[in-house]
Formats: sequence, C-alpha cells, structure tokens
Amino acid sequence: MNPFIYDLSLEELQEWAVQQGESAFRGAQIFDWLYVKRVNSFDEMTNLSKTLRQKMDEQFSFVTLNEIAKYESKDGTVKFLFGLHDDHAIETVIMKHNYGNSVCVTTQVGCKVGCTFCASTLGGLKRNLNPGEIVAQVVQAQKILDTRGERVSSIVIMGTGEPFENYEATMKFLRIMIHEKGLNIGQRHITVSTSGIVPNIYKFADEDTQINLAISIHAPNDALRSKLMPVTSVSRSMMSSRRCVITSLRPGVE
Ligand code: SF4
Repeated sequence: MNPFIYDLSLEELQEWAVQQGESAFRGAQIFDWLYVKRVNSFDEMTNLSKTLRQKMDEQFSFVTLNEIAKYESKDGTVKFLFGLHDDHAIETVIMKHNYGNSVCVTTQVGCKVGCTFCASTLGGLKRNLNPGEIVAQVVQAQKILDTRGERVSSIVIMGTGEPFENYEATMKFLRIMIHEKGLNIGQRHITVSTSGIVPNIYKFADEDTQINLAISIHAPNDALRSKLMPVTSVSRSMMSSRRCVITSLRPGVE
C-alpha cells in the first residue's frame, strides 16, 4: 500500500513537489487542498496539473475511515467506530462543549499498557497508527462539522492507545494539526494524555510547543496506582519536574 498523503508535513509535500520537477509552491497547494478545502481525492485538486495529480495517485493514498457505527448522546457527543484499511477498528469522538467542538482521537489499535480499568488493553496492542491515520480522524470530524458551519476548536488525545508509546507519529500529527496554513488548531487547545511513559514525558517537555499535557493519575498514592496502572510511577518523578505541568485530568478541566 502507498504511504498516506496525510503522513506528510507541509515541508515534506514541498520537498516531494520539487523532486517531481515542480516548484515548492505546489506542495503548499496540496496542503491547502488537504486541510483547508478538505478534498477526498487527488482528482479534486484542480489547480494542479493532471500529470502531478496522477503522480500523487500512483505514490500516495488517502486514509479511508469507514463508518462502522455511530452513537449519539443527548448532550451532542457523537462517538464513531471507524474501520481502517486492514480491518482494524478505532474510536473517534466529537464532543460539543459550550466553548466549541472537541475531537478525541485514537493513536493505537489496542494498547499494551494494561490498566486494569480499561477495555482497550484487553486484546493487547495490535499496531500503532500512522500519523496520517490520526490526522484523518480530525479531518473526518471537521468534514462532519463543515456540514453545519462549525469547526474543530480543540483536540484531546485520549482515545484508545498510549500516545507516548507511539511518540513520533503523535508528534507529527500534532505538528500538522497546529500548522497555520492547515487546520490551525491553537496549541493551547490541544491536550495529550499519557498514563505516564516517563522518558517521553521529559522528551515532550523539551519539545518547542505550548500543547497541554495531562497525566492520568487515577489513584491517591503510588501503591494503588501501580496496581491499577502498570507503568512507572509518575506521581513523584513528574511532580518534582519543573519542565512539565500537569494541566488537567479531563478535557476542559484546568
Ligand atoms: S494507557 Fe490508556 S488506553 Fe492504554 S490501557 Fe491505560 S487507559 Fe487504556
């Protein structure tokens, strides 16, 4: 299968365009078609030459998220079960708040962490999602919101999986989301939630972003936490870190 077009950053699209003998500007146009005009196919990118569109079609694929199920609650929350190209299924949720629409995305199919209260870990980890498969969840949510003239105003990475066990894909997804020429989601309106993968918490703290980090504590002390969540203790190591701030345990709660 060809790489997903949503896997590529703006810079990578520009680089690809140059490799095809085009100007870097063509890469910027592709980025615009993907995230501003939000098309579903290369054919719809009508300001690009047919040859370039054909090359894209030969070298990349769109992520297809097939809607398997949809659950709507009275408060406006809509939960989707999407099928991936390899028949795995993932959950994405659109939550309607008084401050806007928030999308909760999944970063892995299953999870290996093993928190005792979580159904997502029962079958273990099946695979990591590509950056493009995480991106596609937000783009799909935005397309749904487009039909009623609304936008995704915030993102929470609190769906299935431990984002810091799929760190590089998560970071690439975030960089695409915050790009001002794309969906342009405000950095302070994005929250990454981790169960406590300590090395990557430090790595994240060193990233040049203003994205929020939430650490799921789930217990009043380390002893109970170790039983519920078989991950390295964060309550002591991270509380003492000045490079990382525990901002919230639930989206929207500071
Ligand atoms: S890290 Fe998250 S997805 Fe994984 S088992 Fe724990 S709560 Fe579930």
